[in-house]
Amino acid sequence: AKSSGRDQVCGYDRAMTEEASARFEMERGLRKALENAELELHYQPIIRVSNGRAIGVEALVRWRHPERGLIPPDRFIPLAEHSGLIVQVGHWVLNEACRQMAQWELEGVAPERVAVNLSPRQFVHLDVVELVRSALQKSGLSASKLELEITESALMTSAHQGEQTLHQLKGLGVGLVIDDFGTGYSSLAYLRRFPLDKLKIDKSFLAGVPERAEDNQLVTTILDLAANMRLNVVAEGVETDAQWRFLKERHCGACQGYLFSPALPAAELVAWLREQ
Ligand code: C2E
Ligand code: CA
Ligand code: CA
Ligand code: CA
Repeated sequence: AKSSGRDQVCGYDRAMTEEASARFEMERGLRKALENAELELHYQPIIRVSNGRAIGVEALVRWRHPERGLIPPDRFIPLAEHSGLIVQVGHWVLNEACRQMAQWELEGVAPERVAVNLSPRQFVHLDVVELVRSALQKSGLSASKLELEITESALMTSAHQGEQTLHQLKGLGVGLVIDDFGTGYSSLAYLRRFPLDKLKIDKSFLAGVPERAEDNQLVTTILDLAANMRLNVVAEGVETDAQWRFLKERHCGACQGYLFSPALPAAELVAWLREQ
């Protein structure tokens, strides 16, 4: 709803008001969604490039709206982040992912690891370390089975605090992943100090591989950087065989994308893992 001309100011205001009330409605709905258990997690396999087998899954939240059907996270996570509701949403996600993983372990069908996204606001929240500790304790899941994905921009907004929080999380024994790598202007000096295990190459960089020389170069550079820093790598958004071959030739450790599987409801994920 952006406009520049003076005669459009009114339309702009109206659009702003509509946007604000749509936001308000969405926020109210999301609060109810939390109360009524309308959120659910889907799981996308993460694949070892060398042999095509799953090494873990990423938990991705969806909102099963009673009237509007399945709403993808891009439609409500930014809003939740803005309003602060993300803290409750994130709390639910963390507990549910740990609960599900512990349940899969009991059933003998668990993937090696589950990765959970921490939003920027959740990451700077005072209690984040306590929340992770309690999710592990309540579920009985061992910390080594849990990975936390934190976006590069979240880490960089308060690099000093971020560094301390990462060390505390690391102290719990969970894996730490820097998400959407390449989009957030990391200071390399900081990157080296952070106790990270893994770096996730943002899917926007994979999109141009192998057609665009610049994207090829960029992905190759990130892979070299990760190797130098002894970080494991996951490339996201892998959709084609050509992209997979490209990553294989450059010894990328793991990848994730529609070429293998989209995010699946828990039961379907288990069936997918079995069929592998
Ligand atoms: P993300 O963390 O970068 O997750 C990857 C997104 O890429 C997911 O979208 C996934 O379904 C999608 N994707 C997977 N493979 C492919 C592919 O081959 N091609 C393309 N084009 N896309 C692919 P999704 O599930 O819609 O999630 C979008 C974003 O919402 C996530 O991006 C993450 O930032 C956020 N999100 C999802 N779940 C959570 C959550 O529980 N907590 C928080 N804080 N954020 C979440
Ligand atoms: Ca992620
Ligand atoms: Ca991404
Ligand atoms: Ca993202």
